[in-house]
Amino acid sequence: MPSAERLVESLRRDETRASPARGDRFHPLSANALHARGCDGPKVILIIAGTRPECIKLAPIVRALTDHPELSTVLVNSGQHALAVRETLAEFALRSDIELAPLPCLPHLSASHQHLRVELRAVIQRCKPNLVIIQGDTLTAYSGARAAHDTGRALAHVEAGLRTDAILEPFPEEWFRRRIARFAQMHFAPCRSAVENLVAEGVAESAVQHVGNTGIDSLREFLDDPERNQHRARRASATVLVTLHRRGNYDRNASIVCDALIDLAAARPELRMLFPVHPNPQVSATIRRRLGEHPSFDLVEPLPYREFVEHALHAALIISDSGGVQEEAPHLGTPLLVPRCNTERRECLATGFVRLVSVDRTAIVRAALDTLQAPRLRALPIDDDAPFGAGRAALMIVSALETMLLERAYA
Ligand code: UDP
Repeated sequence: MPSAERLVESLRRDETRASPARGDRFHPLSANALHARGCDGPKVILIIAGTRPECIKLAPIVRALTDHPELSTVLVNSGQHALAVRETLAEFALRSDIELAPLPCLPHLSASHQHLRVELRAVIQRCKPNLVIIQGDTLTAYSGARAAHDTGRALAHVEAGLRTDAILEPFPEEWFRRRIARFAQMHFAPCRSAVENLVAEGVAESAVQHVGNTGIDSLREFLDDPERNQHRARRASATVLVTLHRRGNYDRNASIVCDALIDLAAARPELRMLFPVHPNPQVSATIRRRLGEHPSFDLVEPLPYREFVEHALHAALIISDSGGVQEEAPHLGTPLLVPRCNTERRECLATGFVRLVSVDRTAIVRAALDTLQAPRLRALPIDDDAPFGAGRAALMIVSALETMLLERAYA
């Protein structure tokens, strides 16, 4: 596998070759530029999703725009994780309008990026949207950002401005997220520190909106669902829910986490370990080989969103390198250990539910045993004081889109 540095080098070369000499990339799109795109008929917003978390976090926006009299949406499944996107959208009663062919297995990240960028560019050229929306820090988000830039379309980035303290950690997510900021004209920040990060990097303040995280919108809907609350199950205090999918935790690190989980199962034999295994063979092969036959482990396919969150709500402990799960765990009241050396969601650490733990066998076991013994904290309410907002991010985004695409365009 090429190193992160070599992959970044090839992506960087590619950006230098293709970027036009325009100096306005850091500024919000001017009203005139929008006006020039025409004011007749509904404005078209092209929304691109390539992975499950993108669907979970874009669904509230797509739904808030449904039946909007002046803004219409085209929802694109990029093909990165085509099936997961199809299934997750269906959970939110949504279907993509355009589904690209599944992303072929290419030798490295920059080849996959080139492929997706070309495909998405063709979609944008065909749909001629007034605005492209991408979410987060995935290959799809970065490729969508590049494709929007290639075609001269305005770009909005949802969940903009999260930063770790190292550009290649985690790789490639951190790098993608930072680069996307260079191509976007609207930056929807999920928390205050994200606003500060963007402004410190030179993004115009007027181009940044603090809206909260749309993932909390989806979580709030789940928690408020009266049907689910009717048969609210007891807290199953003997389950540890585990997920692992970050590139930094492939191969050797996956083995270390498996060793730690085996030790934990030996120390606390009453625990059941529920492990939805990510399809990527670089992480799943190790997990299945090491844990597949162990009687304490239930290795399952990735779970539907609502099922996963239900398990997360009832678990005694979650061990996960996920970003989204860090946002969710405090509101579910479930402690989370994150086997990573840093996080772009530092607000989560301050809640008392989320703790970073180095990828070290002894450290993970010790942290897990300590956490399991500690008294359980009350779940953090989803309200205006919550780090990622009160679950109304999508409405705030739609209101900003209306201002940008409708009011200002007519000004
Ligand atoms: N999730 C899910 N099924 C699973 C594992 C996670 O629906 O089997 C949800 C989880 O609730 C969260 C999101 O997927 O909303 C996190 O996605 P992931 O960990 O894949 O990506 P990241 O957030 O790290 O980008």
